[in-house]
Amino acid sequence: MTELLYQTDAYLQEFEAMVTAVIEESRAVTLDKSAFYPGGGGQPCDVGSLLVNGVVYQVDKVKKQGDDVLHFLGGDVPLPSPGSASRGTLDWVRRYKLMRTHTALHVLCGTVFRDYGALVTGGDMEPLKGRMDFEFETMRGELVREIEAAVNKEVAQARDVRVKILPREEAFQIPDLIRTKINLLPEGIQQVRTVEIVGLDLQADGGTHVRNTSEVGTIRVADYKSKGAINKRIYIEVA
Ligand SMILES: [Zn+2]
Repeated sequence: MTELLYQTDAYLQEFEAMVTAVIEESRAVTLDKSAFYPGGGGQPCDVGSLLVNGVVYQVDKVKKQGDDVLHFLGGDVPLPSPGSASRGTLDWVRRYKLMRTHTALHVLCGTVFRDYGALVTGGDMEPLKGRMDFEFETMRGELVREIEAAVNKEVAQARDVRVKILPREEAFQIPDLIRTKINLLPEGIQQVRTVEIVGLDLQADGGTHVRNTSEVGTIRVADYKSKGAINKRIYIEVA
């Protein structure tokens, strides 16, 4: 089982961990703890490097498998042995861009729900770019500019972003979480991680976010598209 350090500290860029298992065929190792985000909820996985016994391995990809996080190592240097001490380092430039982008998408989602009552049906992101699908019947250029102004106003409010890990029963009492389809969480999950943009948005979410919306930057609505009668897609860029 890998302890997920990014869940409680999104700003951790380097960490010490022990190699717990090695999978030769896929050049993957598991660690007892990790700050690498394994991907999920629209946020791509982190990349970076792992230093073991003086060898620097590139971490090309990270993936969750059950309770473990697999770190796929590049190159062809022999893999470390289980029990080795290691030092992981994230590609922080990329990760921080993803944190800003992820928080920007939550600002968008919270603002669109508050102003138009439209629910999110999906989303995806890459560093400084993202898209989100809403249950929206009509979308036009005018509305898009209105949304863009409203999200930037929220960013400028410098709202704190708070992460909590709650027992399942407690999380299920929160009306805001019910609207974001928390009830779809598998029954086995006993704890729910929540991300709150204070005064704007609250969701069950596993991703990494900035501490305050002031770190997001400027959000531009780059495009919008109809994805069916009641589905509209909004593309954003963060600068
Ligand atoms: Zn999210």
